[in-house]
Amino acid sequence: MRTRGEFWRKGASNTNYNIWLRPTAQPCTIGFDMTWFKRENSDYSASGTVPVAGNGAGAKNVRTEGLWVKCLGCRQPLYKADLEANLMVCPKCQHHFKLGSRARIDLLLEPGYELVDRGLRSTDPLNFVDVKPYKQRLLKAQEQTGLDDAILNALGRMGPHEVVLSVMEYGFIGGSMGAVVGETIARAVDRARLTRKPLIVVAASGGARMMEGVVSLMQMAKISTALAQLDDARVPYISVLTDPTTGGVTASFAMLGDLNIAEPGALIGFAGPRVIEQTIRQKLPEGFQRSEFLLEKGFLDAVVPRAQMKPYLIRALEFLKAPETK
Ligand SMILES: [Zn+2]
Repeated sequence: MRTRGEFWRKGASNTNYNIWLRPTAQPCTIGFDMTWFKRENSDYSASGTVPVAGNGAGAKNVRTEGLWVKCLGCRQPLYKADLEANLMVCPKCQHHFKLGSRARIDLLLEPGYELVDRGLRSTDPLNFVDVKPYKQRLLKAQEQTGLDDAILNALGRMGPHEVVLSVMEYGFIGGSMGAVVGETIARAVDRARLTRKPLIVVAASGGARMMEGVVSLMQMAKISTALAQLDDARVPYISVLTDPTTGGVTASFAMLGDLNIAEPGALIGFAGPRVIEQTIRQKLPEGFQRSEFLLEKGFLDAVVPRAQMKPYLIRALEFLKAPETK
């Protein structure tokens, strides 16, 4: 009895091999009709319809467009107006939905803040094309979010403190970090150093932007260098990690704060849990790479619910800005 492998090696000259092929001799297609493969929890789709609030277009959800949203935490239907009034946090289970960059700035800064460092747009240095050209993706994301890229810098007051705030936008190509995101954050860091105002960066990112290849990886070094200068100048930097903060963003500025604080339940890591699980072929512990787990392991300084984030940051800045005692 021959094994299947032998038939394959023998090739077409073997008369018995047909029993292994389909009668129509059509190639098996993989990847185009994968109806069996549906992500249960997918809250980021390629079309960009993410449940994100506060970007002009308002909150969106793939499955329940309208007045009701299904909670990704407890799976209960939520009245969208209630959810928005509760800062996009589920009133039933405290699941923190993603928050758009403008809504985040409105939440953290006093009214009258100023948006700065705008007008930078990616030049698509690699002329990158995957299933569609990167240029098209950029245009679509710009249209949907009203932003130039996945980042907004703002100058304003947080309580009594003048701060430089930089907020990432997950709704823009998964908050990925290309040259524009890198440059905009680096400018925020430089601005904080030159004006001696504390810097706060709110991260929400899938990591480096693959469409810009090595150019996006270089941003890690660029921002980290600027942060080292900020540290030398003894200007405080607080990193706020939100769901998700992964890849090159975690591997650079998101973990370099004088304080690294996260929202509850945020996915924070370098590679995602699925990739790690498939690589080491082991089941990961419950809550792996979530904020609370990382706090317990000493990677974070605090986990702070969204509603308490601003008072927490104000208190932290009072502490960090206190005059040195000798
Ligand atoms: Zn819930």
